Amino acid sequence: MPYRTIIEPFRIHSVQAIAFPTPAEREDALRRAGFNLFGLQADEVIIDLLTDSGTGSMSDRQWAAMMVGDESYAGSRSFYRLQDVVSKLTGFSELVPTHQGRAAERILFSVAVSDGDVVPNNTHFDTTRANIEYQGAEARDLVIPEGRVPATEHPFKGNMDVARLIETIEEIGTDRIPMVMVTVTNNSGGGQPVSLENLREVRAVCDEYGLPLFLDACRFAENAWFIRMREPGQEDRTPEEIAREMFSLADGCTFSAKKDGIANIGGFVALNDPEIAALCRNLLILTEGFPTYGGLAGRDLEAIATGMEEVLDEEYLRYRIRSTAYLAEKCHSAGVPTVRPPGGHAVYIDAAALLPHIPPSQYPAQALAVELYRDGGVRGVEIGSVMFGMVNEDGSETPSAMELVRLAIPRRTYTQSHIDYVGEVILSVAERKESIGGYRIVEQAPWLRHFTARFEPV
Ligand SMILES: *Cc1c(COP(=O)(O)O)cnc(C)c1O
Repeated sequence: MPYRTIIEPFRIHSVQAIAFPTPAEREDALRRAGFNLFGLQADEVIIDLLTDSGTGSMSDRQWAAMMVGDESYAGSRSFYRLQDVVSKLTGFSELVPTHQGRAAERILFSVAVSDGDVVPNNTHFDTTRANIEYQGAEARDLVIPEGRVPATEHPFKGNMDVARLIETIEEIGTDRIPMVMVTVTNNSGGGQPVSLENLREVRAVCDEYGLPLFLDACRFAENAWFIRMREPGQEDRTPEEIAREMFSLADGCTFSAKKDGIANIGGFVALNDPEIAALCRNLLILTEGFPTYGGLAGRDLEAIATGMEEVLDEEYLRYRIRSTAYLAEKCHSAGVPTVRPPGGHAVYIDAAALLPHIPPSQYPAQALAVELYRDGGVRGVEIGSVMFGMVNEDGSETPSAMELVRLAIPRRTYTQSHIDYVGEVILSVAERKESIGGYRIVEQAPWLRHFTARFEPV
């Protein structure tokens, strides 16, 4: 194409009105919610970048597929269609559908992970970590050092540190490592991709030690696109060919269809080992449902099958990754510090660097997230000491390593002018950064406090 502008590769077919709460209404909403953006009603938000999970827009083809969903309790045609799509893409012969990603994690880890085990990963997503720890095992993050520093530029900041993986296996012993995992893209590390070369190296280590390799494959298509754009020798392959190779290097995967399934709900475990699959199905029947629907309606299985086909479309992926980079560039060129380079699904603003006058004990990323809402009705999420800070026995707190505000971009949902608006809000908040103060927590739950804590300005 001779033109530089990358356009949304869709036209709008059905629309949903956006609410426009006034500044006074936003102020009231903040106070009612105790300055916690999770406590807002969605209609109090103008642009909602809380998460890209389950918030994307489905296509006309997905809605049409839902109409032909087969709601049979056992042996639904929609299950066999999804199984077909998944096995063609991943090569995995066994499919265990679940209502979302964390149910897939709970079922797989209940079967495969025991007390005292260690599971290495580039970076565990929070539900993955929690489900491993729930089994009494340790979730160990082994991302490369570049992946831990927001400002460092590296094409594959999600890569596993292979030397540390080998050290970990030597230290722990193979009988206490039930599997190695790699998260593509690395959500908790900023949505950063993993290279094919790195996946091949991890596979070789797993082969040498006889360990299974599982992908946390939530954003497999975004990862495949980054490989095509950044990895030497990959530029002429289709995203589908690259995704197939990624899966071919693994023995199985967990998946949340709320991400690159472009569905509003759903997930699965897919794998090659029929014995583990049988154990997973036994648990599935106990808590999720019969193995051919696993907690989903037949129409959901159809939406996921169609979504997994659409997500590999080159025009879609070019637009998707470009629209995230577009917002990141607006921040970067105005001097607002972000995790570099931009990841696939979100822009992460470095609140510690933007607001150095607010100490971690006063939650700079929470303060910034509140300000984006107050100024422009934009809802992001704090990924910092509110989410990951450790409360010590004496009541003091060990802060998180980073203080980030994540602005996650729902798939196919907002247009370029929406993103221009978000950029304007960020820049206006950044311009008056000295006026922004910190917060203290006045109420909190014993775990996962970020969802329900209440705050007060200091
Ligand atoms: C969202 C996500 C999960 C969990 O999936 P849910 O559908 O939210 O339960 C697991 N891993 C990663 C990397 C994710 O982004």
